Amino acid sequence: MPRYAYVNGRYVPHGDATVHIEDRGYQFADGVYEVITIVDGHLIDEAPHIDRLDRSLNELRIGWPVTRRALGFLMRTLVRRNRVRSGIIYIQVTRGVAPRDFRFPKGAAPSLVMTTRHMTFGSPKLMEEGVSVVTIPDIRWQRRDIKSIALLPQALGKQQAAEAGAFEAWMVDPDGTVTEGTSSNAWIVTGEGVLVTRPATNAILNGITRLRILRLAGAAGLRHEERPFTVAEACRAREAFISSATTFVTPVTRIDGQAIGNGVPGSLASALRADYLAFAAEAVPA
Ligand code: PMP
Repeated sequence: MPRYAYVNGRYVPHGDATVHIEDRGYQFADGVYEVITIVDGHLIDEAPHIDRLDRSLNELRIGWPVTRRALGFLMRTLVRRNRVRSGIIYIQVTRGVAPRDFRFPKGAAPSLVMTTRHMTFGSPKLMEEGVSVVTIPDIRWQRRDIKSIALLPQALGKQQAAEAGAFEAWMVDPDGTVTEGTSSNAWIVTGEGVLVTRPATNAILNGITRLRILRLAGAAGLRHEERPFTVAEACRAREAFISSATTFVTPVTRIDGQAIGNGVPGSLASALRADYLAFAAEAVPA
């Protein structure tokens, strides 16, 4: 079965999908993106993902390539064409193609590219064993709240984690506080059982999964705080975990080689993961 990509108004076979070399995404990383999870063929938390896309576009003064309504239709068409039941859709918008000049081009049409990928979620192995993270300096810019395609620091960080045998790298500000993972938000559970994650300022990307977990935690009556925490506090925590559209809630059992809690996934992370999976299953129209 051919796999299609959507490129500026056309569904093209994935292998033939190309953009021009003077696309500003290619030249300057002048663009934004979203990744939305697909469960049973449906997009999970679609509205908040598209709201965040709108916010990212506005922050960079990039216009919408198509209307929001049309984007919904195009995403669904691609998911259907590629027969994705379980996986992700990647949506990227750049400022478009223009002669290379830092200043914004006048009249360039924003480029819209979308791809899908089949994936299975909730690997029991990761859940049962948890994952390890390493900590690295956060060398990114000061607008991490924008879901920019400028991901070189994250690519370097993830590679460093992989070379250290870890699943993720937690990035750390000069004051010793954890900002977030290279592609996930960071969470701990304190010795008193309080769920802690960094507040959504310009220092982190406000994960849609993060927001969903905060709502689920509120609904379950769990004590939670949005505040920065240090690597030292995380190492002393009862539990730690990461969240993202592709990892949902994944327990962290080691930070820089040090066991967290008793070195196995914590009960709160497991409960929140179950709540998230139930939410995703319910969000899917029967
Ligand atoms: N932080 C960063 C830096 C990310 O790249 C991601 C995933 N795109 C997240 C957090 C998690 O966001 P979400 O829950 O929307 O996937």
